[in-house]
Amino acid sequence: MQVFKFGGASVKNPDAVRNVASVIRHHGEKHLVVVISAMGKITNALEELTQNYMEMNHEKVMEKFDEIKDFHWEIAQKLFEDPKHPVFFHIEQIFFHLLRYIQEPPSRSYNYEYDRIVSTGEIVSTYIVSHYLNYVGVSNQWYDARKLIVTDSNFRDASVDWILTPQLANKALSPYMAGSNKNKPGIVVTQGFIGSTNQGFTTTLGREGSDYSAAILAYSLKAKEVVIWKDVPGLLNADPKIHNDARLLPNISYQEAIELSYYGATVIHPKAIKPGDLFMSRLKLP
Ligand code: ASP
Repeated sequence: MQVFKFGGASVKNPDAVRNVASVIRHHGEKHLVVVISAMGKITNALEELTQNYMEMNHEKVMEKFDEIKDFHWEIAQKLFEDPKHPVFFHIEQIFFHLLRYIQEPPSRSYNYEYDRIVSTGEIVSTYIVSHYLNYVGVSNQWYDARKLIVTDSNFRDASVDWILTPQLANKALSPYMAGSNKNKPGIVVTQGFIGSTNQGFTTTLGREGSDYSAAILAYSLKAKEVVIWKDVPGLLNADPKIHNDARLLPNISYQEAIELSYYGATVIHPKAIKPGDLFMSRLKLP
């Protein structure tokens, strides 16, 4: 089986979501876990919401809330012609719960509240993408990553429980990956960046943590490979936004990949390289 990861830029608008669907359709409906980030810059917007929530600035909280909800609503409206499609119910439900939550004053630490609120971005993006895939005939199962990735309670930078996570992930996902169960689709769509403590509290793995989620699931499920889909042709020897003569590196060693990510190449998250000697990490153009 394989793990595909799509970051925020890959799902930032309706066309990007359509592109993701065509990449997955091309792969075929078999043995695939798709890890998805929050759409576009939504994590930043949710961070601002959290900041205002902690400062009890209700007016600003509501402003951000409306902006974030409208952003997703508009994307869904462009993707789904039928206004009665269940995706709208799900979006409504997610934001209803968030609204109820932020209407109460904060009760726990900043980091706890951050994870509770900011994780909404990944939850809503995966609902939209998963529904859209089914809508265009790419049968898949939405799965809550908080039921797959167990962490400690170091909110905002949680550490993975490497014993429980592979056990849970295998138990939950192998019926989809085995290909023997005709009632279960071979594609699972889940969130990057988020996990859960043993007690069921939502945690996050650190900013840009979705690459890491893909690596965790690939390691846990003994995937053949992880593909991190990007809007650049692969690993380059420099940032193409700064150097327009940046060259593509067709192959690099594992050691060089560690160095690149460690010294700040944002193309792949350093944590995602860590469990990496057990699988191949590749980058491709969608
Ligand atoms: N959505 C999270 C972030 O923007 C995780 C990720 O995209 O990798 O940091």
